[in-house]
Amino acid sequence: MNIKDTNIIGHYINGEFLEPSSEMQTVYNPALGIGKKKVLLADENTVEQAIRCAHVAFPIWRDTPVAKRTKVMFKFKQLLEENMEYLCELIGQEHGKISHDAMGEIQRGIENIEYACSAPELLKGEFSKNVGTNIDSWSEFQPLGIVAGITPFNFPAMVPLWMFPMAIVCGNCFILKPSEKTPSAALFLAELLTQAGLPKGVFNVVNGNKIAVDYLLQHNLIQAISFVGSTSIASYIYETATKFGKRCQALGGAKNHAVVLPDADLDNVANSLLGAAFGSSGERCMALSVVIAVGDHIADTLVKKLKIEIEKLKVGIHSNTHNDFGPLISKEHKEKVEYYITKAEEEGAEIVVDGRDTKPLGYENGFFVGATLMDKISPNMESYQHEIFGPVLQIIRVESIQQAMQIINNHTYGNGTCLYTKDGEAARYFSTHIQVGMVGINVPLPVPVAYHSFGGWKKSLFGDLYAYGPDSVRFYTHRKTITQRWVSKNFIEEKQFSMPT
Ligand code: NAD
Repeated sequence: MNIKDTNIIGHYINGEFLEPSSEMQTVYNPALGIGKKKVLLADENTVEQAIRCAHVAFPIWRDTPVAKRTKVMFKFKQLLEENMEYLCELIGQEHGKISHDAMGEIQRGIENIEYACSAPELLKGEFSKNVGTNIDSWSEFQPLGIVAGITPFNFPAMVPLWMFPMAIVCGNCFILKPSEKTPSAALFLAELLTQAGLPKGVFNVVNGNKIAVDYLLQHNLIQAISFVGSTSIASYIYETATKFGKRCQALGGAKNHAVVLPDADLDNVANSLLGAAFGSSGERCMALSVVIAVGDHIADTLVKKLKIEIEKLKVGIHSNTHNDFGPLISKEHKEKVEYYITKAEEEGAEIVVDGRDTKPLGYENGFFVGATLMDKISPNMESYQHEIFGPVLQIIRVESIQQAMQIINNHTYGNGTCLYTKDGEAARYFSTHIQVGMVGINVPLPVPVAYHSFGGWKKSLFGDLYAYGPDSVRFYTHRKTITQRWVSKNFIEEKQFSMPT
């Protein structure tokens, strides 16, 4: 059996697809509003089975030379590149994102595999000769054991790829619990890893919900948890994982602001805001969902330009690459996004373009919300305070950059932000003082490349180390520092009670 020919989405354990009888949940095609596929929800026995297989695989994988571990990743990257279109289709059917957007997601994931392929260099360690007479000292980076990743619906391939390539080349075994809303991509990645030569049990996928997650969080063989998802779950994951003695990084939600200064090139700003706000239906943790315009005339001009462009956007099915973005993930999520629009309207916002009631021809039952633009937002409105995670762009009007920065710094989230300006001094001031983890200057989606690390501040990240890049090498390894002395035969050790210096 293979992922290509099934409507029952099971698990991938010990190099094989498994479908033990268990509870199931419908996996929707959100553009159609119906679901033909069902995902199995792992019970504790199934998660235990995955952990046991990983436990058996670990000692051999740990002792496999890093160059051999990396070789599997090189092959995996090649297979992934050969199968990108099929993976786009899987993502499109379950998530709804348009194929060109899914391609971009996979490409960003592949960059993480490429970085993981430099593991022999990254794991070389640190060496100091003669730290004392005849004494050498070095630090090496050893794998943790079995580690787990729990991932969100919105990047079914990329977010898992932030995690497992690095964890695996570092010598760990990995258990992935993908989102139950978009589970197929992870199984396909698992199949490709096996084809690439990864030994059985090193990478396992268990589909499921809170039951599977809680079992992983509490299991004594799981050494570390990487989580990406909403802030309420991230804080729960961090608290529970650390209580059970695990290393944890838990990335949460966001509210990303763009500040537009009066000297910015407004045509370019408007164009770049469209993709950053509405791409992937705004279901990106780095989506720009708030624009703070400095000066009323900037806001007026921007609103006018955005309105014209937004009304041209095309919404629909993933396979039509003329569409700009697709549906939201579920009926409940569509209702939530529409609730925030209605609430903002009631609280005094001006709805410049209204995406409620969007029904693309032939897809009337899909979970669509069209691009929405709301002006005259104030920070006390509900739509501003919460993450909407939909195609909704809100405009706040202020008089100065300081006022804009204060609004951003006061927000609960601190994932990404962007300043549009031609003024280098303002840009430097902004990037130095803003309380946000990822900052763009004239770059609306400042998602770090794979050889930097990704993470926000405040309630956007719980834990000390960021996702992927150099931080992930530290996250997935233990440092061990060895101090060693070799002396000649006639050496006589002296007694020494003071601290060695
Ligand atoms: P979610 O928090 O609902 O789910 C994430 C994962 O947690 C899923 O695998 C899910 O099965 C599991 N989960 C859900 N409820 C749980 C519970 N009660 N106990 C244990 N596990 C549980 O998030 P989502 O809706 O899939 O994804 C959207 C969210 O993810 C948004 O808030 C978005 O900002 C965030 N996100 C953040 C980043 C980032 O890098 N900071 C990246 C992508 C998405």
